[in-house]
Amino acid sequence: MNHYLSLGKFSFGMGDRFGQQGRAQLRACVLATELGAHFVPVWNKSNREHSFIGTEPSSLRAEADAAVQALGWKSPYHVDADHIRLETVDRFIAPSDFFTIDVADSIGKPAAAVDVKAFVDRHPELIGTVSIPHIDQPFAISRAEVERVANKFLLAVQDAGKIYQHIVRAKGEEHFITEVSMDETDSPQTPPELLIILAAIADQKIPLQTIAPKFTGRFNKGVDYVGDVKQFEKEFNEDLAVIAYAIRKYGLPPSLKLSVHSGSDKFSIYEPMRRALKKFDAGVHIKTAGTTWLEEIIGLAEAGGDGLEIAKEIYAYAREHVDEFCAPYASVIDIDPAQLPTAAVVNAWSSEQFVSALRHDQKNPGYNPSFRQLLHVSFKVAAKKGDRYLNALKKHEAVVARNVTDNLFERHMKPLLLGS
Ligand SMILES: [Zn+2]
Repeated sequence: MNHYLSLGKFSFGMGDRFGQQGRAQLRACVLATELGAHFVPVWNKSNREHSFIGTEPSSLRAEADAAVQALGWKSPYHVDADHIRLETVDRFIAPSDFFTIDVADSIGKPAAAVDVKAFVDRHPELIGTVSIPHIDQPFAISRAEVERVANKFLLAVQDAGKIYQHIVRAKGEEHFITEVSMDETDSPQTPPELLIILAAIADQKIPLQTIAPKFTGRFNKGVDYVGDVKQFEKEFNEDLAVIAYAIRKYGLPPSLKLSVHSGSDKFSIYEPMRRALKKFDAGVHIKTAGTTWLEEIIGLAEAGGDGLEIAKEIYAYAREHVDEFCAPYASVIDIDPAQLPTAAVVNAWSSEQFVSALRHDQKNPGYNPSFRQLLHVSFKVAAKKGDRYLNALKKHEAVVARNVTDNLFERHMKPLLLGS
């Protein structure tokens, strides 16, 4: 296997749409470390987010470096070129040291028949009864099944190999961490599929350290997990078993672990995840992004006055453009239009009413997940306000930062590693 920059056991991906919360986010990592839950901070921003906001990938590096300097953070930290592809990676290469190679678009497109045959011939160990430690029922995989999975995923893995090699040529193999993401696709990958995918990734000589499968259930933006928690727990445990097995069998990096995308706010699965990670002594990468932008709105609303006013303006505009804003996110949000209050109603709200509706506190009777999801996908409204929005964040920095830190530390890091 090639040389690579090694990633720590537990890592926490933090997106920051407007680039203002780096210190508040890192502060959460400091607090967690003080309690013995050490997360390696990773700042992530996708090409799509950069395009919507009008920023360059170098700005994320600058933000991360500044936060680390300001807080005197001495441990490793990384900057993730999130969901990049061959056509988008180049401007990310210099400022990033973590690359999330997104090959979801190639899933389902068949690789060359000769490559599929060569893959199946090379891997007789995948055919028949495959016993994996800590999985009760051995996998029964036929040759036809390996062929089917190869036809579905081999081209995607070959694409990942091309993008990986492209980054190696530009940056040097020892200077970055590689993630492969397959989450933005229609159907979840089963644990046996994950095993076959990992065999193919090892064939490509990609020193994979995190893999983001699509898990069973819905990972909606900024709200709790929707699905069968028991089934999720079973598959998450099996995925961990498959990864431990594939590391030994295929010589993948010992640091290889799952990456959970749209990992923020999935409160009902954190406890099952924590149990499974403990059982396997496994690490994990949790990727979050929009949850921090929602804390900015919460902070502004809590501040009252002009802060509350701008939060209300953003909602009013989003409410008028529901269909337009929601369309690109149809598969990752579930908004009940009947639950969306009119702008007139919201405009009459106090700070407390606005914050209750938006903050992810399921015990609060005012909490409104439809309201929260609509605002989650409406960050373009704030981007359009330009300096007015940024100035409001600066003016109300203390209250915004407190919300950003509390959200990551109390609602995410603590339950994930320490239990609630
Ligand atoms: Zn993703």
